[in-house]
Amino acid sequence: MNTDSLPYRGRFAPSPTGALHFGSLVAALGSWLRARHCGGSWIVRIEDLDPPREVPGAAQQQIATLAAFGLVSDEPVLWQHERHAAYAAALAQLVEQNQAFACWCSRSDLERNQGLHRGSCIATADAQRTPAWRLRVPDTIVGFDDLVLGRYEQRLATEVGDFVIRRVEGYFAYQLAVVVDDAAQAITEVVRGADLLDSTPRQILLQRYLGLPTPRYLHLPLALDCAGRKLSKQDSALPVRGDDPLPALRSALAFLGLPTERWRHIGAVAPLLHAAAAAFELRAIPRSSSIVQTHHRLS
Ligand code: GLU
Repeated sequence: MNTDSLPYRGRFAPSPTGALHFGSLVAALGSWLRARHCGGSWIVRIEDLDPPREVPGAAQQQIATLAAFGLVSDEPVLWQHERHAAYAAALAQLVEQNQAFACWCSRSDLERNQGLHRGSCIATADAQRTPAWRLRVPDTIVGFDDLVLGRYEQRLATEVGDFVIRRVEGYFAYQLAVVVDDAAQAITEVVRGADLLDSTPRQILLQRYLGLPTPRYLHLPLALDCAGRKLSKQDSALPVRGDDPLPALRSALAFLGLPTERWRHIGAVAPLLHAAAAAFELRAIPRSSSIVQTHHRLS
């Protein structure tokens, strides 16, 4: 089941773990440009599933920064902390279908198994402790055709193992929540950073188990720091500020392969975005991640 015949709906789904940085701006902008280029809608979803990692006020700050860059959700922002009932229903369905199971394995239990969980829980059930819930992964290859990177396949049983969909702490895992919400919001195409490429087969398996459509996927190159690491909100890497958006916006457009030189005369956000949405093309998006010079002033 795919989403090819449905009206285009895209999304940007930041976790509120810090200020938006250049890499998240690239993902937000790429998803917005693609949605607008295809004449579709673009929706912001705040993935606030993991309270210990969240920074108070970060979500509102992210939404305000996006707005300064001209990126405003076409529909009310969806907050994952309000969606627990939907995730619980999906977990219940998977348990009912015998595709999810409770797991009491400790880290050392898993280490004995090369770090992978395969088949069933090897620890003893313990009514005193809350279990994690894992998805039972079949020994098959799950793959998809990324719109930029091409074919990507994983043999989940040996590369990932039975993965956690509800954590011991009681939080629902990203993999489950993202699949439930992409379907609930009728997302037809997921545009996001290439760091999530290897999560996609897990999400496709969950979609199949839950009877949900599989959207198209487009993974954007990552912005790396000088040491070749992905910029991360937790490191407060290169935060982008909304008070002078044009320099960072031009850099992010150039990063996505757009001809920003042509638009040097444009001195405001809205017309620059308009020109970029019209010119946006998949072919121009670089396939490999690249280093962003941290000494450049980006905000
Ligand atoms: N919340 C994830 C992040 O901030 C992105 C999830 C997604 O786009 O699927 O990295």
